[in-house]
Amino acid sequence: MILVTGGAGFIGGNFVLDWLKEPKTEGIINLDKLTYAGNLATLDSLKSDSRHVFVHGDICDQELVTRLLREYQPRAIVNFAAESHVDRSIHGPAEFVQTNIMGTFHLLECARAYWKDLPESQQKNFRFHHVSTDEVFGSLSVEAPAFTETHSYEPNSPYSASKAASDHLVRAWFHTYGLPVLTSNCSNNYGPYHFPEKLIPLVILSAINGKSLPIYGDGQQVRDWLYVGDHCSAIHEVLANGKPGETYNIGGWNEKANIDVVKTICQILDGLRPRADGKSYAEQITFVKDRQGTIVAMRLMPARLHGSLVGNLRKRLIAVFKKRCSGI
Ligand code: NAD
Repeated sequence: MILVTGGAGFIGGNFVLDWLKEPKTEGIINLDKLTYAGNLATLDSLKSDSRHVFVHGDICDQELVTRLLREYQPRAIVNFAAESHVDRSIHGPAEFVQTNIMGTFHLLECARAYWKDLPESQQKNFRFHHVSTDEVFGSLSVEAPAFTETHSYEPNSPYSASKAASDHLVRAWFHTYGLPVLTSNCSNNYGPYHFPEKLIPLVILSAINGKSLPIYGDGQQVRDWLYVGDHCSAIHEVLANGKPGETYNIGGWNEKANIDVVKTICQILDGLRPRADGKSYAEQITFVKDRQGTIVAMRLMPARLHGSLVGNLRKRLIAVFKKRCSGI
């Protein structure tokens, strides 16, 4: 078995579904606090699948995590649980410090206590995979080369600072205690079950509901969009073949300025469900004052993920946008 945390969230939910889609794969204990971002409905298709054990709880609860580790004896932990929305971190950073930093600390401590008592062969194969973000690297100018795994950490928001701190803890638990950890830093994900406050679903829903489509600043902030299914495949690969103590960038090779993302969605909607007045949905775009600490550009060079995996990180933004727009 493996223990997944935050498996009712956007990426964790996709990961759980993807992991269990093969009938013979091992089971998952899914520990999730069900914050506003957790949605058990994502996992409805697993209701009668005994390989999926959902536990409602907090990664900060060491007693609970210790009990789960003893009871289910997982061979790996994949930590998705986090507060993940940059805007929310600006208005209320405390929860980000609590879950992203303290939560990772508690999880690492439970994992360490469990791992050190495992028989030698199981100890060698155990992995603690921490899912992190490219935002820890800070901001690039529009023309700058992509972040590699060795770029210095320069977080700009409370969210990215809390993730950076958690990455450092994970690293330290490897170097100090030998816990076999892996860290992956991914770019912006998109795909099924995306929480409606994030850019892509927010724009689609606001557009069809006749609301304005607010864009920060001039909308020229560049993000690298990673399809969530490709991210899940990359995590599988890192979990199976990653080197303990190493970090792995996972990018989508798919850079777009925010304004272009929004205009693309508007064009697709114009074709699929034209506005009653015949005008384009792009008429609903408004420009609002940029938030503090905004990142100009981010792009990732996955220097340590080679071969088939890199080839598999497909560019399919438009196809997925069309599917999402037509599914509403
Ligand atoms: P999300 O906000 O959609 O989901 C987070 C999940 O964690 C939710 O189900 C929530 O209930 C759960 N959770 C929160 N606090 C918890 C706690 N204390 N204990 C147990 N569960 C808790 O996040 P996401 O977009 O799926 O992101 C998953 C991971 O990937 C995060 O670590 C995030 O930092 C990272 N990441 C996300 C993106 C992205 O584009 N979404 C990009 C880079 C990195």
